[in-house]
Amino acid sequence: MNTVPHFIVQISTDGTLLDFIGCRDSNVVLIPDIILGRPISDVMPSLALPIMDFAQQALPAGEIRKFESDFRYSINDCSYEVKLFVSGPDKILAIVHDITGKEADALQTGSHAYQDSLTNLPNRYLFQDRLKNAIAHAARKQRLIALLHIDLDNFKRVNETLGYDAGDRLLCSVADRCMTSLRKTDTVTRFITEDTESLMARIGGDEFTILLTEITKVQDAALVCKRIISLLSEPFIIERKEVFITASIGISVYPSDSDDMTSLIKHADIAMNQAKKQGKNTFQYYSESMNTSTLERFSIENKLRKALERNEFMLFYQPQIDISTGRVIGVEALIRWLQPDLVLVKPGQFIPVTEETGLIVPIGEWVLRTACAQNKTWQSEGIEPFNMTVNISGIQFQQDTFIEMVAQSLYDSGLDPSYLKLELTESCLTKHSENSIKKMNLLKGMGIQISIDDFGTGYSSLNYLKRFPVEILKIDRSFICDIATNPDDQAIVRAIIALAHNLNITVIAEGVETKKQLGLLRGYGCDGAQGYLICPPINPVSLTQFIKERMFATSSKM
Ligand code: C2E
Ligand code: MG
Ligand code: MG
Repeated sequence: MNTVPHFIVQISTDGTLLDFIGCRDSNVVLIPDIILGRPISDVMPSLALPIMDFAQQALPAGEIRKFESDFRYSINDCSYEVKLFVSGPDKILAIVHDITGKEADALQTGSHAYQDSLTNLPNRYLFQDRLKNAIAHAARKQRLIALLHIDLDNFKRVNETLGYDAGDRLLCSVADRCMTSLRKTDTVTRFITEDTESLMARIGGDEFTILLTEITKVQDAALVCKRIISLLSEPFIIERKEVFITASIGISVYPSDSDDMTSLIKHADIAMNQAKKQGKNTFQYYSESMNTSTLERFSIENKLRKALERNEFMLFYQPQIDISTGRVIGVEALIRWLQPDLVLVKPGQFIPVTEETGLIVPIGEWVLRTACAQNKTWQSEGIEPFNMTVNISGIQFQQDTFIEMVAQSLYDSGLDPSYLKLELTESCLTKHSENSIKKMNLLKGMGIQISIDDFGTGYSSLNYLKRFPVEILKIDRSFICDIATNPDDQAIVRAIIALAHNLNITVIAEGVETKKQLGLLRGYGCDGAQGYLICPPINPVSLTQFIKERMFATSSKM
């Protein structure tokens, strides 16, 4: 390895060379006696400006503090790493390190500590090092930096369908194309004297990051993103096949989004996830509001993690009636979260978070166990048995242990499986369909009925009604709410009922709020109804009361 010229000088804040402390390289000809007391610009002309520039910022007039920082500086093909220490009220110690060719050497000697071996791009560590320097430099020069976090969309699919070798080749080609977008920075002003330059790194499997140090306005980053997205839109030829890939890109900007490295990286990542949520193949700037919603989410997530062990969940039950007789045929269990500050949170506000985090699995198990046990309790209290309907999230249903968990819950509660209905949504059926059919048949074999929730709002593939062992279908509230006035909704509801009946499926209407709606549904031959008209979701004690009153009312009518 080359010897690295390395010299240490002491300079006053007005630029006079006070002392020459040492030099480790004989090629650097500096004769201390002659140069002492002369301006540093005479002695090290190429480095004087950046050093003084930095040093003067480091030590405001009259202030004494110890300061340590470093920066890189390139001039004529040479690179220097400069470490500055403020050593007294008017003295700066500069340790100048000539690092010309050092990085190239490191790569040649096989040191891969800073290089990604697949794409030959810098890796995460080198990237962070450069980013730190770029921030320090931008701070001094009052410049902007943009950080792009690129994540390929559905890259896993490439690995799964074409194999890992093809996946690797695709990653290399993607890296090449993105680099092209950096080289042609025609619309972006370049500062050739910068000590840092735009840099692309691979920071993980299909994740890349780009540091743009050359931008003059925040919008410049979007130009680069657009160019990347457009370059990626052309097919890649891998193993003589055309492969298509898109990317989602998040942008964070120094100093508006943050002035520290860790937050800039984090913010670009948050923005990237936002781009994914917007449907992928797009870019998104980080924004404060985005952060707030993420923070809120984190706070909900943390609270949710503790909620189960602290027993903060409870189940409300909403009755379902047989439209023709008015009798209660069952109840739907609907989760509520009673937070320690006694705020009652509805599932719409936290179920999506539990699904994203996987917390839905233990929480869903708690729901099923509690609902089964409650129904058994009602039965043993002598109330005429009715069905218990439990909502099952797709993620829960996909668990390998799902069937086992259901069987165990039934066994532990002692509830007869014929009193349990599981409610799935349409999307849950259209994905993973072969495995879903198998599971549903197992459930059916156990004596449990499957109900399709929110029918009409998902994919509404009529085909699955035939293929899946579905016994109950619930028409979504959105079709019911205007049924009294909207002929289209009337037509849709009638058609759904007719279709379901032809397939031997029972139909329950959700969200029935008025007598008019109930009357129409009765006229259409709808089997069951659920909604505020009959009863809102209520706690178990109130439900016991409701059932007893209702049983009395319906039996006395007969
Ligand atoms: P869902 O299963 O479709 O439940 C019906 C929702 O409609 C309930 O909202 C219920 O309170 C509401 N509702 C019932 N009747 C009426 C009405 O007449 N008018 C109006 N405007 N609304 C009515 P809720 O309890 O807020 O639950 C929302 C959703 O959260 C549920 O929709 C279900 O998808 C999900 N959910 C609830 N509990 C659980 C659970 O234990 N596990 C899972 N995975 N999801 C659950
Ligand atoms: Mg439901
Ligand atoms: Mg529903």
